[in-house]
Amino acid sequence: MFHKRLFIPGPVEVRPENLLAMGTPQIGHRSKDFQDLYADVNAKLKKFLHTEQYVFLSTSSSSGVMEGGMRNLIKKKVLATTCGAFSERWYKMAGENGRPGDQLKVEWGKGIRPEMVDEKLKTGEYCSVAVVMNETSTGVMNPVKEIAEVVKKYDDVLLMVDAVSGMAGVDVDVDGWGLDLCLAGLQKCFGLPAGLAVFTVSERAIKRAEQVPNRGFYFDFLQYLKYHQKNQTPSTPSIPHIFALNSQMTDILAEGPARFERHAKMAKLVQDWAAKNFAMFAEKGFESKTVTCITNTTGISVADLNSALAKHKCQISNGYGDLKEKTFRIAHMADTQEWEIRGLLSLIDSILKK
Ligand SMILES: *Cc1c(COP(=O)(O)O)cnc(C)c1O
Repeated sequence: MFHKRLFIPGPVEVRPENLLAMGTPQIGHRSKDFQDLYADVNAKLKKFLHTEQYVFLSTSSSSGVMEGGMRNLIKKKVLATTCGAFSERWYKMAGENGRPGDQLKVEWGKGIRPEMVDEKLKTGEYCSVAVVMNETSTGVMNPVKEIAEVVKKYDDVLLMVDAVSGMAGVDVDVDGWGLDLCLAGLQKCFGLPAGLAVFTVSERAIKRAEQVPNRGFYFDFLQYLKYHQKNQTPSTPSIPHIFALNSQMTDILAEGPARFERHAKMAKLVQDWAAKNFAMFAEKGFESKTVTCITNTTGISVADLNSALAKHKCQISNGYGDLKEKTFRIAHMADTQEWEIRGLLSLIDSILKK
């Protein structure tokens, strides 16, 4: 009953009604019932993500679809923008899969500026650009809309976006911005357990995949498309996740724009608290709306703080990798409410005062 309330950037707290939806009795993945379920959740996702393009469901964590992006969409060379652990991982995936790529690297804590991307694309060397919208390791949110404006100037350059920890916390306008691949897992702002990823693929991206050999089997976008046309997935999906996603999407659409305002308000609360008591790790103007990375300017023990929080059934996140103890992170995503964030911050205040 009294489980630990997670304020970490995934997995996040899942509402009981969504946990219950996961317990819906199974249906066959080639049945009419499944096709109806698939069509239903697909329509909701298309509306939510403002897209008329394809929305596919992958039974994997987000990393699977990230790797799929690198396998399906690179014909020439990818420009991977990197500003932290997850974007660097995506760059690495290109190389591991034998896809040529260059890194457009900025220091951790800094954001990717559209002009930097423009400068690189001018060389004409690249066929794809990879951007992590919300770099969860540093709490930096990149201006995807503005970067997309730049990419649009170049014919035949595809834009791939890892929106893993941003989608469903900030409004993502897939068609309006012009994203060719946009992906996210369920355990971040969707507020569901890990195990399923949602991704949009443009018609242009499908055309590209058709020209790329060696796409692999499990994440072959053309296989996704083939089964999508029958309202199915290529292999047996995690049906419990799809039941829960369908239910959660109804609630997300009902919440409407208030969902994004709620995330913005929670972010502001944590950012103000961080600036007052510590310092923000993300550079000004690039602060994430879904997770705040705080520089540990007063040298507290983050591990001890988390042990103390555990006694109150709460958990925050230490810094990522080398940033451990130098920073710590508070996630404010999914169905978290403002009052919970206020409660958490005053709890931390009271622990640190002792
Ligand atoms: C969590 C996260 C990932 C990896 O997700 P997995 O579900 O662990 O595969 C990738 N990118 C970003 C930005 C993330 O926050």
